[in-house]
Amino acid sequence: MSNAYAEVIGDPIAHSRSPMIHSFWLEKLGIDAAYRAHHVTPDTLADYFVQRQADPDWQGCNITLPHKEAALDHVEDRGGLRQSIGAINTVLRDEDGALIGTNTDAAGFYTPISGLDLSGETVALVGAGGAARAVLFALKRADVGAVVLLNRTPLKAAALLASFDLKGEALPLDAPLPAVPLLVNASPLGMTGQEPLALDLDPLPNDAIVYDLVYVPLETELLVAARGRDLDTVDGLDMLIGQAAIAFELFFGKAPPRDCDDELREALIS
Ligand code: NAP
Repeated sequence: MSNAYAEVIGDPIAHSRSPMIHSFWLEKLGIDAAYRAHHVTPDTLADYFVQRQADPDWQGCNITLPHKEAALDHVEDRGGLRQSIGAINTVLRDEDGALIGTNTDAAGFYTPISGLDLSGETVALVGAGGAARAVLFALKRADVGAVVLLNRTPLKAAALLASFDLKGEALPLDAPLPAVPLLVNASPLGMTGQEPLALDLDPLPNDAIVYDLVYVPLETELLVAARGRDLDTVDGLDMLIGQAAIAFELFFGKAPPRDCDDELREALIS
C-alpha cells in the first residue's frame, strides 16, 4: 500500500471541499494515494514547508485562506505570480526537490467559458479581492478589450485594473450594468450570511453569460435572476472543480475523470 498523499492547508481548514473532490477522483481512478485537509496556522507555515519538502510521500498541496500570499515567501515563484495574481493556491516539488508555487484558480475560472471568444470584448466584473485578481489574469490572457469593474470601493478597483494594464472603468456597485457578453461576480455578495448582489440585469444582451464564483449557496439570487431572463449561467462549483482538476493532475500525474462531474456535483451539494 502506498503512503503517497497530497493535502490542502489553511486556517481554518475543516470547511474545505478539496478533500471530497480529490478523494472522489482518486477512488474513481483507483489511485492508491490520499488527499486530506491539514490545519496550518500562519506561525507554522514556514515549518510546514521545510518538513514536507523532506517527506518523500508528499505530492504537493493546495493552499487556502489565509496563506495564499504568505506561501509565496517559502517557494520558488517561477511564473512571476507575485506580480500578477499576487497569490498561489498550489505547491509542488520538482525533480530537484525545489518547492514550486503555482496558481490554478485563473485556469479553473476560464475553463467553463473557454469556448467564448472574448477577444476585444468588454466584460463586467464585480469585486476587487483575491478571486477578482485570478479572473482579471484570465481575462487579460483571453485578450478582452476592456473590463468594467464594479466594486464597493471604486478606487481600489481602478488600481487593480491599472495593475493588470487593462482598459476599462471602475464603478460603484449601484452603477448600471453595460451591455456586455459576460458578467462575473467575484465578490462574496450572494454568499450565505452576506447581502445578495442586487444588480439590474436588463442591460445585458439575450446571449450574455452570468458567472457567479460564489458556491455556497449554489443557486445565488444573481443566478436565479439571470435564469429568469433566460441567460446562460455558470456557478461557483464549475470553477472549484476546474481549479482542483488542474492541481489533481499535477499531484497524481493523471487527468481526473471529468465525465463524472455530475456525480461529483451531487456529492458536493448533498
Ligand atoms: P475577498 O478578497 O474577501 O473579496 C473582497 C472583495 O469583495 C472586495 O472587492 C470587497 O470590496 C468586496 N466585498 C466584501 N464584502 C463586501 C460587502 N459586504 N459589500 C460589498 N462588497 C464587499 O474574497 P475573495 O477571496 O476574492 O472571494 C470572493 C468570492 O469568490 C467569495 O465568495 C469566494 O467564496 C469566491 N471564490 C470562489 C472560488 C471558486 O472556486 N468558485 C474561488 C475563489 C473565491 P472592497 O474592495 O470595497 O473591500
